[in-house]
Amino acid sequence: MDKQTEFVLRAIEERDVRFVRLWFTDVLGFLKSVAIAPAELEGAFTEGIGFDGSAIEGFARVYESDMVASPDPSTFQVLPWRDQKPATARMFCDITMPDGSPSYADPRYVLKRALKKAADLGFTFYTHPEVEFFLFKNPVDPSVPPVPVDHSGYFDHTPQSLGSDFRRRAITMLEQMGISVEFSHHEGGPGQQEIDLRYADALSMADNIMTFRVVVKEVALSQGIHASFMPKPFTEHPGSGMHTHVSLFEGDNNAFYDASAENHLSKVARYFIAGLLRHACEITAVTNQWVNSYKRLAGGGEAPSYVCWGRNNRSALVRVPMYKPNKGASARVELRSIDSAANPYLAFALMLAAGLAGIEGEYELPEGAEDDVWSLTERERQALGISPLPRNLDEAVRAMENSELVAETLGEHVYDFFLRNKRAEFETYRRQVTPIELQTMLPVL
Ligand code: GLN
Ligand code: MG
Ligand code: MG
Ligand code: MG
Repeated sequence: MDKQTEFVLRAIEERDVRFVRLWFTDVLGFLKSVAIAPAELEGAFTEGIGFDGSAIEGFARVYESDMVASPDPSTFQVLPWRDQKPATARMFCDITMPDGSPSYADPRYVLKRALKKAADLGFTFYTHPEVEFFLFKNPVDPSVPPVPVDHSGYFDHTPQSLGSDFRRRAITMLEQMGISVEFSHHEGGPGQQEIDLRYADALSMADNIMTFRVVVKEVALSQGIHASFMPKPFTEHPGSGMHTHVSLFEGDNNAFYDASAENHLSKVARYFIAGLLRHACEITAVTNQWVNSYKRLAGGGEAPSYVCWGRNNRSALVRVPMYKPNKGASARVELRSIDSAANPYLAFALMLAAGLAGIEGEYELPEGAEDDVWSLTERERQALGISPLPRNLDEAVRAMENSELVAETLGEHVYDFFLRNKRAEFETYRRQVTPIELQTMLPVL
């Protein structure tokens, strides 16, 4: 038995853990959980826990449905929102086939495979997300519009605000679970919040984001309010993005930093950004996976609509944030399209793959955009070589259909399932008669 497994078994006794939840994620990014008794744990570590994969979104066809969840002991944490005596704990799982080979449908495996490719090139991939979401007063009821908990805006501090109370509780809970928070504030929309997680390797971060979503929902409910990661709940307010800052390290050195280069941006960083730009449209169906995601990308509010990069340009898809010259380690690039409802494992795998393709292919970085690209005319953008991001899920799916990079990174099974699922989502949407059509057309037609 290795040290981590021993540690888990001891912690279970010392902390009086009565339930152990095994967590994993389906292809669309929904968290799945099965609770086992502590007595089953040793067996779970050695043989895994079997389940019906065909009942999980995107996992398997019915005739090959047996799958096995094997807990990763390094992810053991006691859940702070449950009773502490006896307590409930969780571990993330890797999913395998009955013969022990990794499941081709497990998003965690898709990311691990992408990270392995980076490791073979000598790189570790770090990410740091800024997660935005809304807090609503009313419970989810699709027939009633959501009511935000406040009418504050960006960085507002108001006395006795539900939002700051909420953030304090949520952050405390995240830190109890080993997830460091760097920054938090009220965002631009009413009731909208942002919490930024301290950077971590991409696999830990994807796990952290899954945990984050549960913590945020639990804390909201404990305050009698409701949290939502829906990308664009209001037509008239900004949506919820998950801007993600990324960097590659070679050992202890940030490979994006070069003290002698223009703007301290290393060749690796320039290639990486070029890769993100060249493959941006192909990966958008995954970074922005819902019909609703495209309402955010079309709505202004500092969400990007065009493929370009810039230094400190918040209308760009990729932004290179300024950092102090003595802080080379924090050199990074920010992808601003990805939203809070993406599957973080698949999205990180594709962001990395796009960047690595840029490095391996030595893609040339186009000129940075210094203007506010929204205020340019279509013709001006064309002259600058700035093309639009997919304007809806259908365009995004079509770009993904033609992408070798996405097919290879996700693997055939996830790629096919994802495309099928998203085509169906768009078809359902396409047939809907919407309230705005009735409002504007019934009176005149
Ligand atoms: N909410 C904006 C988005 O959707 C971002 C706003 C900000 O962080 N300044 O991308
Ligand atoms: Mg921010
Ligand atoms: Mg923000
Ligand atoms: Mg940002």
